[in-house]
Amino acid sequence: MAKLSIADVDVSGKKVLMRVDFNVPLDDSGSITDDRRIQMALPSIKSVVDRGGQLILMSHLGRPEPGADNSKYSLKPAAVRLGEILGKEVAFAADTVGDDAAAKVAALTDGGVVVLENLRFEKGEKKGDAEFAGKLAAFADIYCNDAFGTCHRTDASMVAVPEAMGVKPKVVGFLVEKEIKYLSDAIGNPKRPFVAILGGAKVSDKIMVIKNLLGICDKVLIGGAMAYTFSLAEGGKVGKSLVEKDKVDLAKELIAAGGDKLVLPVDTHCGDAFSGDCNKVIVKSGEIPDDFEGLDIGPETAKIYADLVKDAQTVVWNGPMGVFEMPPFDAGTRAVADAIAESDAISIIGGGDSAAAIGQFGLDDKVTHVSTGGGASLSMLEGQAFKAVDVLDDK
Ligand code: AMP
Repeated sequence: MAKLSIADVDVSGKKVLMRVDFNVPLDDSGSITDDRRIQMALPSIKSVVDRGGQLILMSHLGRPEPGADNSKYSLKPAAVRLGEILGKEVAFAADTVGDDAAAKVAALTDGGVVVLENLRFEKGEKKGDAEFAGKLAAFADIYCNDAFGTCHRTDASMVAVPEAMGVKPKVVGFLVEKEIKYLSDAIGNPKRPFVAILGGAKVSDKIMVIKNLLGICDKVLIGGAMAYTFSLAEGGKVGKSLVEKDKVDLAKELIAAGGDKLVLPVDTHCGDAFSGDCNKVIVKSGEIPDDFEGLDIGPETAKIYADLVKDAQTVVWNGPMGVFEMPPFDAGTRAVADAIAESDAISIIGGGDSAAAIGQFGLDDKVTHVSTGGGASLSMLEGQAFKAVDVLDDK
């Protein structure tokens, strides 16, 4: 069922506690090197500010160690940047639930914004501590979750805080709403044919995704280094390719369970070293010479995969087809990306490296949805329920 959204609640004069993902990269001098995460939260932030709400923003940043000097993980640079973007003063609380936070929250006026100090400076955040959560919940009239990248976690700000809000409204922000729409609803009720393309380095990272998608897709296409573990399972020769020998039995199980739904590469682009200017050869799958390693799907496979994508109505893609960072071994990933971009299917790009590849090829605006969460989007593709979302109000 769809979740109540920030747009559905009257925020005027109300205090809104919003969990955002301001986990931005900082350089050694503490300057933000990429503010995309702040930019992505702007629609929800502006929705509250423009309607006269009083906004309290909370986030984690990095992995502070309890008891260490954690000043480099302060959220102050994020608060400053948000102020620059909004063109108005954004207050910063030097603690998360202490006296300064309480004072700055109390001083908020309509349309005002305060950013609390890093949630992970408090031990209670990772522990999901109810007392810590209660202090945060007491700050506000409305709770909003717009931190998709953290939705698969059960940190206090994600679960215990909305629980502690009791009957007060608990809503999703626009970012989380969009991710759920595509990664959960579109996949749960797909237009067919529904094709999944899974690649990347390791089968072990994506076992649950493959199992779940085999249950709901019409075809699951495999690429990347994980294809060579499947090749081993079929008795093929993989040379020096990256494989997981301890996952061969599992690959056999997936091949048996998948039947003709599971599509494996028919050829491989190999090199005699992990380098773009190595000696190269294209061979049939399972026939990689001893001194070579598979670094990309071959051209015949790329064509078969592109044709399957062309006929699809829904496409989900997670993981590159080869070493896309190292031309010419980007060709297979590029062929799949181009086919997705050209197709009329609803196309959903799981976060992480496939999102990076789509960006590298300049195709972001040719696909329906590029997920912003790496771990969170994988968990959603695994079909996992998210406590952090379940706890929010239904529409
Ligand atoms: P993952 O994080 O599991 O999605 O894996 C992405 C990484 O897998 C990328 O950095 C790719 O370069 C790498 N990768 C994909 N195919 C291969 C391959 N055939 N051999 C080595 N690495 C690969």
